[in-house]
Amino acid sequence: MSDPTKIRFELSENDIPHQWYNINADNPVPPAPVFDPATKQPISVDTLLQLFPMPLIEQEATTERYVPIPDKVRDAYKLYRPTPLIRAARLEKELGTPAHIYFKYEGASPAGSHKLNSAIPQAYFNRISGTKALTTETGAGQWGSALAMAGQMFDISVEVYMVNSSYLAKPYRRIIMQTYGAQIFPSPSAHTKIGQSYLEKDPNHPGSLGIAISEAVEVAAESGGQKKYGLGSVLNHVLLHQTVIGEEAIKQMDLAGEYPDVVIGCVGGGSNFSGIAFPFLRHNLKDGKHTRFLAVEPTSTPSLTRGVYGFDYGDSAGIVPILKMYTLGSDFVPDPIHAGGLRYHGMSPIVSSLYNQGLIEAVAVGQRDVFSAAIQFARAEGILPAPESSHAIRAAINEAIDAREKGEKRVILFNLSGHGFLDLSAYDQYLHNGMIDGSVSNGQLSSLAERLPQVSLP
Ligand SMILES: *Cc1c(COP(=O)(O)O)cnc(C)c1O
Repeated sequence: MSDPTKIRFELSENDIPHQWYNINADNPVPPAPVFDPATKQPISVDTLLQLFPMPLIEQEATTERYVPIPDKVRDAYKLYRPTPLIRAARLEKELGTPAHIYFKYEGASPAGSHKLNSAIPQAYFNRISGTKALTTETGAGQWGSALAMAGQMFDISVEVYMVNSSYLAKPYRRIIMQTYGAQIFPSPSAHTKIGQSYLEKDPNHPGSLGIAISEAVEVAAESGGQKKYGLGSVLNHVLLHQTVIGEEAIKQMDLAGEYPDVVIGCVGGGSNFSGIAFPFLRHNLKDGKHTRFLAVEPTSTPSLTRGVYGFDYGDSAGIVPILKMYTLGSDFVPDPIHAGGLRYHGMSPIVSSLYNQGLIEAVAVGQRDVFSAAIQFARAEGILPAPESSHAIRAAINEAIDAREKGEKRVILFNLSGHGFLDLSAYDQYLHNGMIDGSVSNGQLSSLAERLPQVSLP
């Protein structure tokens, strides 16, 4: 039975998971092949090795159900894990709902979000493989901050291509990354051939995650093996690392004496949603549980709800591997909404596959609705959420209201993927300066399927 007076469900260091969970072992549909963008043939390990170290390539392809977490990675996780699970009892009261609302607070990480959960193992596996430097992209700056910090821990230098609109709107993120010792370039930058080609078209180009990825990959691919590339989401190994969130949450829901009816996360590339959802989804797939899983995306980058399912480039220039995913097209440049971390044209292949099979649900929400939920949450619970995470909060509040209308006791669990202390200008805009919703015209999505690259399926 749940104790209505208990609010925080804390674990100890010993409860940090010893292994990551790989849902590809239980996914009814096997993963689609990954294609080389140059040849349109299935990609070779040698090509992948230009970008990633061998242990991460192995994790990308593994079919083992569990992958051990190295001691040095667990030791680094001890800086902030286990993260708290908190019951949003004040929010429940304000909503007058019979629902119970729980959230896992990944904003407790020193870099401010869940991204450190993958940055640490990526830096570690690069370190033991002899990598000297990592290149990467960042949207809102969360991934760049996390990789900058992890690089510092494992003595690897870090070079970050930051989406220009975020670089201008979020100067404090750049300062954090520089404090952790990373080098930052606004993207598109004059530092790469791809960046130069975009700057020629528009010297004030707002940038996109797809373009920033192209730049970071170009630098790694042309470094003669010195530099590798780190991606903060989308790929299987990143989702794998994030499952520490859900493994801890299972133990904490147990302490609360409850089990979720619905698990919610925002989705950009899909990693924090997968992190909280997959360990519970394992119970649906193997143990006959019937939990619902809800992925929440912005109306301005609605890859799951309005994109097509097919093979597409992971970046804008078409130089990173081609993945089977829900996509808005690799040339898609979204409106510059505040949730910079959700402005990606595609979606993780695993999340895409699960959605295509109907094993998870998706919904798109508008920016103004998201900020009204963020403010309602902050006033009730005190924590100021990241704009990205607030998409999950919007959906959790909608679930709680729906439960109230139906008179149902529903147990809702959502992932609070990061704090919003560096997003105050976005809150200011909502409160004082008339925030507008982002949108996507039908024209932007016309003949999408025909525009995707043609791969030779085996
Ligand atoms: C990057 C980021 C996201 C989106 O990325 P996912 O891979 O979909 O999790 C969500 N929330 C925060 C706080 C982020 O930094």
